[in-house]
Amino acid sequence: MYMIEIIYRIDPNDRDVGRAPRTAQEARHLLEEGNRGFSQLLDPSLGEDGVSRRIIRVTAADLGMTDQGSVLQHHPFALVIGCADARVPIELIFGQGVNDLFVLRVAGNVLGEEILGSIDYAFQFLSSLRLVVVLGHTMCGAVTAAAGAFLDPAKYLGLSADHELRSIVNQLFPAVRLSHESMIRTWGSDAVRHEGFLPGLIETSAVVNAALMAASLRSDLAAKGLTGVETVFSVYNIGALSVGVPRAGDEGQFQLLDPPADSDGFEKLSLDVAAGPAVTAMMQQ
Ligand SMILES: [Zn+2]
Repeated sequence: MYMIEIIYRIDPNDRDVGRAPRTAQEARHLLEEGNRGFSQLLDPSLGEDGVSRRIIRVTAADLGMTDQGSVLQHHPFALVIGCADARVPIELIFGQGVNDLFVLRVAGNVLGEEILGSIDYAFQFLSSLRLVVVLGHTMCGAVTAAAGAFLDPAKYLGLSADHELRSIVNQLFPAVRLSHESMIRTWGSDAVRHEGFLPGLIETSAVVNAALMAASLRSDLAAKGLTGVETVFSVYNIGALSVGVPRAGDEGQFQLLDPPADSDGFEKLSLDVAAGPAVTAMMQQ
């Protein structure tokens, strides 16, 4: 094992730091490249002196070290909705510092009332925002609970007395249902007995759920007349440190994707993930 260092650097002579992306495209590119850099921590050949190093540049002002009398402005360039899972540290994943991301985290990255209220607040008061990202992740406990309850309705009865948890699982069911159909279409109806079926269903559902949440937010924001802001989704792979959607014929690393525009698009996405390299590996174990 080699050493890894993640450094937050404030360098008063660094003139480039603090320049926020001006367009949605720039914001998207910055996050994709930020994740590529984070993922490269796993590659010791890219380090120096046996140390794999990642430097995140921060301005003194963004840490609140402003000149006397001036007020630190809140100016994140992207809004990220992620899971509460402690293994999914949003700023680190995208290589961002302080005052860059407006982050909302909730189990299963579902869109409950408080999350929607926070998004509403953000777009009322933060004109710096250019991008909305819905980020699911592999090995998600909330998605696992929903997939388990879908496959075994007796488990759902166990959740019936737990209103709060049930409300999260209920929001995840549409993604699980579509993913289940895609797993059966891809691997056959006997596949449910295969050990890899549940992990494959969870993997596919995490992608479809993030895409569904992103599509729903995109139409909400369009209805509000918001322009110049894009809504994208992806899934963080715990262990690989990379953000992307592994689909048939595409490893999909370091990618933020546009959500499908219609039900055909969702069906295709779901089938592509069910037949993709990650789920195939699970089904061939
Ligand atoms: Zn999770």
